[in-house]
This record gives sequence, C-alpha cells and structure tokens, in this order.
Amino acid sequence: MAPTTFTTERFCDDLGPQMVVHLYEPRSGLRAMAVIDNTACGPAVGGVRMAADVTLTEVYRLARAMTLKNAAAGLPHGGGKSAIVADPAKADKPQLIRAFARAIRHLVDYIPGPDMGTDESCMAVIHDENGRSVGLPRVLGGIPLDEIGATGYGLAQCAEVAAPFCGLKLQGATVAVEGFGNVGRHAAAFLGKAGVRLVAASDSRGAIYNPDGIDVAELASVKRQTGSVTAYGRAKQIPLPELFTLPCDILLPAARPDCIESGNAEKIQAKLVLQGANIPATPSAETILHRRGVIVVPDFIANAGGVICAAVEYAGGSEADVFHRIGGKIRENTEVVLKRSRDEKCEPRIAALALARERVKAAMTFRR
Ligand code: NAD
Repeated sequence: MAPTTFTTERFCDDLGPQMVVHLYEPRSGLRAMAVIDNTACGPAVGGVRMAADVTLTEVYRLARAMTLKNAAAGLPHGGGKSAIVADPAKADKPQLIRAFARAIRHLVDYIPGPDMGTDESCMAVIHDENGRSVGLPRVLGGIPLDEIGATGYGLAQCAEVAAPFCGLKLQGATVAVEGFGNVGRHAAAFLGKAGVRLVAASDSRGAIYNPDGIDVAELASVKRQTGSVTAYGRAKQIPLPELFTLPCDILLPAARPDCIESGNAEKIQAKLVLQGANIPATPSAETILHRRGVIVVPDFIANAGGVICAAVEYAGGSEADVFHRIGGKIRENTEVVLKRSRDEKCEPRIAALALARERVKAAMTFRR
C-alpha cells in the first residue's frame, strides 16, 4: 500500500523530520515545500523536485531517503528535500526558481541540488540568490553530475556486485528502464559496457520494447531530438505499466515514486531490481519481491552516485575523484547489505536501514 497523508503523528520518529515548511509567494505564484529531516551528520543535502502532482508525503519520504543515503555513503551531510508544485514543461522556470531560492534563504541547514524537473542551471540561480547549492554548472566550479552520469555509473557498479547474489551474469543479461532521463539513460549506457542489453525503456509519454535490444546512444539521440523514446523506430510501443512485467533480468525504475506496488510485484520477471529512482516501490511490494526471491537493492544504497558527486563538489574536490569515490562506496555498501540480508534472512531494505540508522544515531550522540 502507498503511504498516506503526511501527519506529524504518523511520520515523526527518532530521526526526524527536524523541519517541515510550506512556502507560498503570490507574486510569482510559487507554491513549494521543504523538509529538513535530520542534520546530525551535517547540513542536509537533497534535491529540488518540480512536479505538478508532488505531495508533502512524497517530499518527506524523499527527505528521509536522503538522510539514510547520505549516512550510508559516509558523507558529512544530513538529509532534506524540497519541491515546487508546478509542471516543469509549462512553468516559467527561471522566475519560479528565483522566487524559491529567496523563500528558502533562511533554511541555512539545507543545501539544494537538482532533481526531477530541475537541473544545473536552476542550481546556478539558487546559488546566485543565496550562495548555497550543489550540482552547479562547470563554469561555477561545479561537477555536472547529470552530464557525467554519476548516478548511472553507481547503479552499474551496484549491479556488478549484486549480480552474483541472484545467480546472474551481466554479460548477456537484459534490462528494462522506466524513465529514460538522466539516471536511466546513463545507467543503461554504463550497464551496456558490462554487456547488459537494453530491451525496454519509457518516459512520461510512453514505453518501447524490443527483445533483441535497443541501441542506447541512438535512443538517447532520438529522445533529445523529439522529446520522447516513443519516436525510436526499431521497437514496438507498449503501454507504460507493461514495462515492469516484461521478461528481463534487471528492472531499473528511474522515474516516479511507488511505480512498483502490490498490483505488479507478483508479476515482475526480473531477478534483480536496481532502484535508480528514489522510493520507486511501496513497502508491501518490496516484501512480495523478497518472498519471491527477487533481489531489490534499495534506493539509498543503489542510487547514491549523484549525492556522492555533489558532496565531492561541495567539499571542493575534483571531477577526477568522483568515479573512484562512487565506485568504492556503492560496491562496499551493496556487498554489506546483500550479505547481511542473506545471512539474517531479511529484506535488503531492513539490512540497509540498520546500516544507515546506526550511522545517524551515532552522529546524533554528538549533538547538543
Ligand atoms: P529526469 O527528469 O532527468 O528523468 C526522468 C525521466 O522519467 C524523464 O525521461 C521523464 O519523461 C520520465 N518519466 C516521468 N514520469 C514518468 C512515468 N510516469 N513513467 C515513465 N517515465 C516517466 O530525472 P532524473 O534525474 O533521471 O531522476 C529520476 C529519478 O531518479 C528520480 O526519482 C530522482 O529523485 C532519482 N535520482 C536522481 C539522481 C540524479 O543524479 N539525477 C540521483 C538519485 C536519485
């Protein structure tokens, strides 16, 4: 079941959230929310999402995922998230982002980064207004995490470690990617280097399938030119929900929350689910998949590449450090979590939560 409406009674626990803020600015039409979940490990880093249907529950769940992700990655950062309620295709983005940046100026414990519907140019505007953001353009000293494919690289590293846990060889394996955006596109390309064949991909406009394989670079070019994967000629169009239950070895959700739920979890044929998106599966769906022997590497372990890159940038590190740091940390965490899950016969998320929570709780003991 998908989690319900945010209330403090239902969602506050021993970690947070520390602060929940609604923002409204009538002149620009800005409607936004920010959640700072926990700052025991350091100032909260988390993306700014722009979507018409985003809810406070979603922002809170994403903020918590960032607390866990940053702690699991051993970063000196806590977790937060924010969202602007607007359709990124129709909104006056520069005006809204500038209004948003001014509205969060007082949230000094929150460092915004890019997320769905925002990018490095948005982060440049936020930096201009309040001097605090990550995922900046190169010209401002940033390491463009989406351009270099930081998260996609980490997902491919995660797959290499996870594959033996589900009896899978990456060479010759197949992958279906939901959301052929920054994360999905780069993950497909890096997995391709390990011998994995892309057989299905989707975006907000539709999904395509070709069991013989889809050329990742060509698909990226089609999407860039036409705006959608559906214009790719050498694959058949399928309804969006069908992508999740296709025959394939790896399923890689990289778009919206809760797209894997109890309704489709029973029908998923993949042996490995790599959570590229944040919170792409409901808790009950993960339980069903675990019972069926499907290995699910949780979001805050598998997709930490982007925030590791952002932390390197924030600390003044170089682009050359990034891939080494991402590979090392994600490989180590995937191994620890999947071994603990196997040995203790628990869901990978339970094992991952234990790892991350231990780190946050230890950091909290040092706070006033
Ligand atoms: P993006 O905006 O670049 O790409 C998202 C893609 O999903 C787009 O192609 C969009 O058309 C598609 N999409 C939207 N709704 C869809 C739907 N209902 N069905 C299928 N496709 C749909 O965003 P991104 O940066 O790739 O982020 C994707 C997800 O990964 C988000 O959950 C984000 O929080 C998470 N994430 C991103 C990063 C990063 O480095 N960018 C890091 C960690 C996690």
